[in-house]
Amino acid sequence: MKYTYFTPGPAELYPTFAAHLQTAMDEQLGSISHRSARFRDIYRHTDEQLRALMNIPATHGIFFTGSASEVWERLLLNCVEHESFHLVNGSFSRKCYDYAQALHKFAHLHEKPLGEGFDAAEVEIPEYAELVCLTHNETSAGVQMRPTDMHKLKRKYAQKLFCVDMVSSAPYPDLDFSLIDSAYFSVQKAFGMPAGLGVWIANQACLEKAERLQRYDSLTIGAHHNLPTLWKNYQTFETPATPNVLGIYLLGKIAEDLNRIGIETVRKETEEKARMLYRFAEGSDRYTPFVQQERHRSQTVVVLNTDGPAKGVMEAAKQQGMIIGSGYGKLKETQIRIANFPAVSVEQVSELIKVMQK
Ligand SMILES: *Cc1c(COP(=O)(O)O)cnc(C)c1O
Repeated sequence: MKYTYFTPGPAELYPTFAAHLQTAMDEQLGSISHRSARFRDIYRHTDEQLRALMNIPATHGIFFTGSASEVWERLLLNCVEHESFHLVNGSFSRKCYDYAQALHKFAHLHEKPLGEGFDAAEVEIPEYAELVCLTHNETSAGVQMRPTDMHKLKRKYAQKLFCVDMVSSAPYPDLDFSLIDSAYFSVQKAFGMPAGLGVWIANQACLEKAERLQRYDSLTIGAHHNLPTLWKNYQTFETPATPNVLGIYLLGKIAEDLNRIGIETVRKETEEKARMLYRFAEGSDRYTPFVQQERHRSQTVVVLNTDGPAKGVMEAAKQQGMIIGSGYGKLKETQIRIANFPAVSVEQVSELIKVMQK
């Protein structure tokens, strides 16, 4: 049976993915040199399409890594001398904090239980924190932090570098990159591609910081994919190491498709589908939205408490050709997670709701 994947990553492939993959095969992109003009054109195209889609200004570079988790390490090595600050409300935001500790940074933590979110007004950032790590969409709990709150915080703490994990929501959040210094995502979530490519957006303030840290004898910014090296190569649309050429090509093509639809339409459709799912859960006696505060409810990963065992719903959906995500960790038994990415249509979400109703 052919399934529709409502899983929060890897997820349903974007509908045009297979055709773009075929073109890549026809053009033998698996064999071209990453030092060729053909590759530089591919990088440039993906760069242009992402800039248009996510409104990324020329002050920021766009770099490729192996995954989003890799960016955690790069970011902490390149942008933190001593102290970082983390808003943590689930396993992904927690992991970034864990990386900071593993790299011997002094990591400050402001933590909330799973299912709760952050507003700007409640957040106090310690004086010496250099980098503020925010998560737009905490995938484990289905909690979002609104960009307006992120922007407010940056205005209050203008001297600090602000970085946003937008892994399970990009390109949905409307970040103001005149305030956000860095952001990152991987492609197996809302871009509807197979895993294996991370995207790191960083501005000149991040670069300057990395260059300063690079001059200290007592510190390392790392050898692999450090920001000065990525940036230098980026000037000619090249990469320090042999990159995932195929992934970079496909990302550019899917970003182009999304640009053709228009980001405003993509956002509106995302919100429309999220509204359908939350409304259904609120009106049902078998499901309830896990996140209480409406403003903190994720638009891209909908987490619902189930009345009976979650396994039953997941099995029933599977029989109808739909794969939904399980709850995270301890909540596996009583929760389901439904990815609401651009790859699934309003019709597919309606179909899922029909099955869940039964
Ligand atoms: C999936 C995810 C990550 C990790 O991405 P990888 O591609 O697995 O490295 C980080 N943050 C969030 C919010 C995620 O959903």
